[in-house]
Amino acid sequence: MTVVVPLLYIVAFGLFILGLSGLTGPRTAVRGNKVAAVGMVVAVVATLLTVRHNWLLILVGLVIGGALGVPSARRVRMTAMPQMVALFNGVGGGAVALIAWSEFRTTDAFAGEPLYVVIASLFGAIVGSVSFWGSLVAFGKLQEILPGRPLGLGRAQQVVNLLLLAGAAACATSAAIGGAELWMIGLLVLAAVLGVMVVLPIGGADMPVVISLLNALTGLSAAAAGLALGNTAMIVAGMIVGASGTILTNLMATAMNRSIPAIVAGGFGGTSTAPSVEGAADRQVTATTAADAAIRMAYASQVIVVPGYGMAVAQAQHAVKDMASLLEERGVEVKYAIHPVAGRMPGHMNVLLAEADVPYDALREMDEINDEFPRTDVALVIGANDVTNPAARTDPGSPIHGMPILDVDRSRSVIVLKRSMNSGFAGIDNPLFYAPNTVMLFGDAKSSVMEVTEELKAL
Ligand code: NDP
Repeated sequence: MTVVVPLLYIVAFGLFILGLSGLTGPRTAVRGNKVAAVGMVVAVVATLLTVRHNWLLILVGLVIGGALGVPSARRVRMTAMPQMVALFNGVGGGAVALIAWSEFRTTDAFAGEPLYVVIASLFGAIVGSVSFWGSLVAFGKLQEILPGRPLGLGRAQQVVNLLLLAGAAACATSAAIGGAELWMIGLLVLAAVLGVMVVLPIGGADMPVVISLLNALTGLSAAAAGLALGNTAMIVAGMIVGASGTILTNLMATAMNRSIPAIVAGGFGGTSTAPSVEGAADRQVTATTAADAAIRMAYASQVIVVPGYGMAVAQAQHAVKDMASLLEERGVEVKYAIHPVAGRMPGHMNVLLAEADVPYDALREMDEINDEFPRTDVALVIGANDVTNPAARTDPGSPIHGMPILDVDRSRSVIVLKRSMNSGFAGIDNPLFYAPNTVMLFGDAKSSVMEVTEELKAL
């Protein structure tokens, strides 16, 4: 057994890394996911081989976890995937916090434990608890149980967060020097409040960065727990999640032109409450029809499709592909502009469009396509809002000011497909909708695109 377990762990790590490399491209992503899942099964089996007691408890845990996880993962709609990921991520952090607490109890307040085990356990407890509660708030915001706009204490926020962190660190020190269990509980509670307080003030548009940051934190806390328990699988898997999550956080922050410390410190963006759509009433929008939209695009030389969260809600990707094929048959060049945070998860639009067999080379990243808008006849915005909001460029008071956007407003004409004048995730008004070169085609994106397709066929 002494040889079998490390060997199985090595097989599992190989599969994790292979799986992760598969996740770097849409064509290999599904296979990558399956390979990593097999790796996790191998790691779980190897760990179970080392267990000498508590089989019943482990079985009960597996049954409860499986009964909750499998049906919810099978049933979840594609649009609810991000909150599901936030929740699953948070559960990982919560598990680490509980492991640390149980270590404290079973080792009799870390009596006789090496210093590195004590430090790793307490680090895991703080970071795991922050990650669990922070992820719950992120879940609440994505599920729209909590408002997406920043909810914070303004300038006092940073002081409160620092005090909470200092309090948790003080409790950790007392627990480490053999203090009572109350210190451990205090640490978990203060870290929980800190997790809530860090995520609540983060405005809608900055959520992608915070979600990947929480993901990275969960990975790091799991690696710390692995160190405390002497479990190599947890260390490796935790470090893979921690490292990839950190890289993703950096990429997202760069794409959003944000600094991670500024987002975490809260209050980024100049205002703590996002302006509402009030005041929009006295400005005019121009509504249009599917027939007009079809004519505009049929006689264009280039159309850029700008998909957003609304395309995911409407599941319009297949209809969009059919419409684009029809335009291409007429000699219109069709490209797709992908904003790094369009939708509700990194790569959301890429996944949907790949599912509809849109050729990958028709997709253009923001930096690549932005120069093309001024020479584009029609920008077709399908359920995108925040990622096209010119206030990010022009209004220093806007909560999303400084965030790079797709410059659709610079196209010769813009057609926006959405159901109403409602705001997007950031909860702010979009001046694009009132621009003289913009027309609005109101309705569910899939129905609207299908109507446009019918009109194109009739031309
Ligand atoms: P937005 O959330 O800004 O806007 C989506 C728009 O889609 C809404 O205004 C809505 O308007 C419209 N819509 C919804 N359902 C439909 C439908 N069935 N048919 C037509 N339109 C519909 O989306 P964006 O993609 O532009 O921006 C993403 C936002 O989400 C950013 O703020 C980003 O920071 C945030 N975010 C992104 C994450 C990521 O990782 N990508 C993660 C977390 C947050 P209406 O109701 O009028 O139809």
